[in-house]
Amino acid sequence: MTERNSTIGKSTIGRIRQDFPILHQKVRGKPLAYLDNAATSQKPKQVIEALSRYYGVENSNIHRGVYYLSEQATAAYEAARVKAQRFLNAGSPSEVIFVRGTTEAINLVASSYGRLLLEPGDEVVISGMEHHSNIVPWQMLCESVGAKLCVAPIDDSGSLIVSEYEKLLGPRTKAVALVHVSNSLGTINDVKYLVGLAKKKSAVVLIDGAQAAPHMPIDVQDIGCDFYTISGHKMYGPTGIGVLYGRLELLEAMPPYQGGGEMIRSVTFEKTIYAPPPAKFEAGTPHIAGAIGMGVAIDYLQQLGWDFVHEREELLLRYALERLETVPGIRIIGSATSRASVVSFTLDGIHAHDIGTIVDQEGVAIRTGHHCTQPVMDFFGVPATARASFAFYNTAEEVDILVNALMEAREVFGR
Ligand code: PLP
Repeated sequence: MTERNSTIGKSTIGRIRQDFPILHQKVRGKPLAYLDNAATSQKPKQVIEALSRYYGVENSNIHRGVYYLSEQATAAYEAARVKAQRFLNAGSPSEVIFVRGTTEAINLVASSYGRLLLEPGDEVVISGMEHHSNIVPWQMLCESVGAKLCVAPIDDSGSLIVSEYEKLLGPRTKAVALVHVSNSLGTINDVKYLVGLAKKKSAVVLIDGAQAAPHMPIDVQDIGCDFYTISGHKMYGPTGIGVLYGRLELLEAMPPYQGGGEMIRSVTFEKTIYAPPPAKFEAGTPHIAGAIGMGVAIDYLQQLGWDFVHEREELLLRYALERLETVPGIRIIGSATSRASVVSFTLDGIHAHDIGTIVDQEGVAIRTGHHCTQPVMDFFGVPATARASFAFYNTAEEVDILVNALMEAREVFGR
């Protein structure tokens, strides 16, 4: 990759990297090359400053106080909800529930809507490339109600076999839960098309957008899904905050997930009347600073623009693939035509954890393990992979450092 191939100059990237303080440090005596963005992305100073400002001058509990600070904090929290609504193109702020992240969002839907919806013998369809967060909650639900979990298979490129998925959709399919972008393979699913197929069978559809939100515009109305989940920390925002989008009609029908303060209209010892959504699903004091920080991360992404993000990440992906393929003994896992900037790989005769440890000596942070997708590892017959995942702030030099470190790993292991 050269910046010559791109309309984005080195100076632009240099300027953007200045927004991310963490990137300018040495680890183990080497400049940090942070290539684990699919696990969590780094935070721009705009987000860090928003968190600090919140705790420094705005901190107070929301929706409760009649005093100035509480009004300020409430307004900032609700403004973040509107930002998330626009980010997802949800129909109204009431369709945006703040949760801890994608995992909590899926658990909320599976345990609340799932229990309302499923009867013994019903079916839930997922795919073979799901993150554990989009497997286990459905498995727990199916076990508890006597429903069946059906898995649409993937092929050797790591793509969903759409014809098999379609075959699984039947009169007993009540819910479908699919990942938008796979965290271990990078595969981008055509979710609008897949939702359309499920809708022909009147299934309720949840899309796990944890890995899509950092990379591409999302329009839940255009996709046509009923639920969509995102995690703030994967899209340059704080940890411990995320969003569940749900169609209002369904949110209104669903029982609450947790009981407590804030989610009620009135309480007596005999009966509680619940607040309407979104409050119905936000029991207790929420992660106020997190929501505000996530709103600032959304602003940041929108100021960069999706064209910029896409061009930059596509360039990094192509360059990384080209360079990694030159490493003897490498096996790249996942080659879907439509993919995000994630590359999983193995090196002949070297365990993924050893790869991770050796490249760490060169300042390179990559993920190693099963990436919470053990069924994907089983499918490809590997115990684990190493995974490099790129954000717009990464550079060609960082890819080169990774490749050189992999060459070193081969030498260390006498390969
Ligand atoms: N789904 C996918 C595709 C993911 O990559 C992840 C996290 O890696 C999750 C779900 C879980 O997200 P969180 O840990 O933010 O709840």
